[in-house]
Amino acid sequence: MDITQIGLFWCVSMVLAAFATGVHGKEKQSFPSDLPIIIVGAGAAGLAAAQRLYDSGFRNVTILEALGRTGGRILSKTQPGNHFLEFGGDVIHETGHLLYDFAEKHHLLDPAPEVLDEPFLYRERKPSSIEEKYIKDANSYLDKLIHIYKKETKTSDPGVQTVSVESDRSAQMLKHLAAVLSGSNHEQDQYGVLDAARQLRQFEAVYYYYLRKEMVETPSPDPNLLSRRHYTDKRSGPPNFVLKPTVAMSSVVDNMTSTFPRSWLKLNKPVQRIEQWNADLATNTTRVTVRCSDGTWLSGAHVILTLPLGVMKRSPDLFEPALTTEKLNAIADAGFGSMSKLYVRFPTAFWEGLQPRGSSKFGLIMTEDIKSSIPFTSKQSTVWTDFVVQFGPVASRNAIPNTIWVLIGGPGSYLVDQLSDVQVLNECWQILQKYCREVQVPRPIELIREKWSNNPYFQGTYTFFSVNSSRANRSPSDLALPEWEFETAQKGKKAYSLLFAGEATHSEYFGTIHGALLSGQREADRLKGFYSNFAAKSGFSFFLFLLMIILTLIF
Ligand SMILES: Cc1cc2nc3c(=O)[nH]c(=O)nc-3n(C[C@H](O)[C@H](O)[C@H](O)COP(=O)(O)OP(=O)(O)OC[C@H]3O[C@@H](n4cnc5c(N)ncnc54)[C@H](O)[C@@H]3O)c2cc1C
Repeated sequence: MDITQIGLFWCVSMVLAAFATGVHGKEKQSFPSDLPIIIVGAGAAGLAAAQRLYDSGFRNVTILEALGRTGGRILSKTQPGNHFLEFGGDVIHETGHLLYDFAEKHHLLDPAPEVLDEPFLYRERKPSSIEEKYIKDANSYLDKLIHIYKKETKTSDPGVQTVSVESDRSAQMLKHLAAVLSGSNHEQDQYGVLDAARQLRQFEAVYYYYLRKEMVETPSPDPNLLSRRHYTDKRSGPPNFVLKPTVAMSSVVDNMTSTFPRSWLKLNKPVQRIEQWNADLATNTTRVTVRCSDGTWLSGAHVILTLPLGVMKRSPDLFEPALTTEKLNAIADAGFGSMSKLYVRFPTAFWEGLQPRGSSKFGLIMTEDIKSSIPFTSKQSTVWTDFVVQFGPVASRNAIPNTIWVLIGGPGSYLVDQLSDVQVLNECWQILQKYCREVQVPRPIELIREKWSNNPYFQGTYTFFSVNSSRANRSPSDLALPEWEFETAQKGKKAYSLLFAGEATHSEYFGTIHGALLSGQREADRLKGFYSNFAAKSGFSFFLFLLMIILTLIF
């Protein structure tokens, strides 16, 4: 091969390689590790996105977090004896996902707690034994209904798409009640014949207990807002698992996302505005500017946004240009609510005198005057106590003695988050005295809590599937659709500058820690996918170069 032929070979190889990369000499675009990426929020989703980007070779990432800590809605606080209290997510629902697998592999899980009956305590008066029988019947019937909802498959059947849990369930419950009443007119107890009106009251009492419990678990503030798709679409326990008391959920998530450089994290940086610019200049690698409330700003190629849905709902001016109408409607329709978990410390463990002894939790049932207190109509301070639904001893009682957790749902959660600790402690004491008549309840000493609904960076606790979303045939995956499209240098290939992660965007695990983690990984993968062809073709061009060298040497 003479010198002219060698020259020709090299020219051809250069042209082919340039064609293969598709970047026509724009070196930066072919090396995504140089791309400036901004993640907003350092909760589970933000941390998982950062870790996935790092694992994929990205090296220019900044995480802007409003608070002075990471973890977001995972918040574990150390107590004496190196035990932890969890103020945010603590239960691992289901198996077969990254969080369960990690906890299981590292032996972090408590042995599965024994499944105990949930004993009830009653306000006003203790029901007779026959009344209790009806309460148990109604309770197991409602449990069965939820079980049936969970087993329904996702379907376009309008019965599932458009109907709230409440409207369907109340109709079912009435039918069941009619059947029970027709078969039990002559039962007697110490009050004489158990008449239909008294039976109805027991059913109502259980029904309202169920609604209040659902307001904690889902956490819809109004049962009429909850879609049946909440149960058909969401994969949640049982089985449920908790961590050992000496293991903090926040350190589990930290450990799962531990190798990206901590210098990426910028704390105390509340983001105020996200602007897109140069949208049509495909070759420009910085297309978005993120402005923080302290006046600092940062430009990047892509933003992965992990704000809680409650914050998104209240941030119409965050984006310039505005999000698409489709996205804004999806945000407006999706359900976001609040529940409160209080830790209350007493001088003695009064609950040890309650029957049955050793119970891990108690359900609180109001047997009279239910309708006058629900739905919530006034902002009187004692109203929140109607939404106290369960309490139970803190498991690691040796390290955190004489302490119970108390759960409050629905409107009661928003209200209690606004009250002072002194007022909450006092009213908590009053309500517990009403339910625990068989023992003396001492005055509580300390309240430990996190006010999620009162915090501008959360606005509540987690997402539920709303009837508005199901009526519009939407699902959490609509919240995940990226925005601010642009055409890449590779002809015909689209990419997006604004990506959305966070628990609310996961179709099956919304409202959970693992849903948040998976959503962060998903968006990091999506981002990487915008550049995967460049990378593949860069590999191809390298292969061509190699081939040309070999051919040159041969000839
Ligand atoms: C009380 C409670 C109990 C729960 N129980 C469970 C449970 O038992 N099991 C379970 O699986 N899940 C549970 N969850 C839900 C679970 O904790 C969440 O789904 C998950 O942690 C959400 O992670 P995320 O990354 O999507 O959002 P977040 O953790 O909320 O992260 C978003 C981050 O964005 C930050 N941010 C907000 N605004 C701005 C801004 N303007 N600029 C910059 N940063 C901002 C926030 O500070 C936050 O750090 C619970 C949650 C709560 C609150």
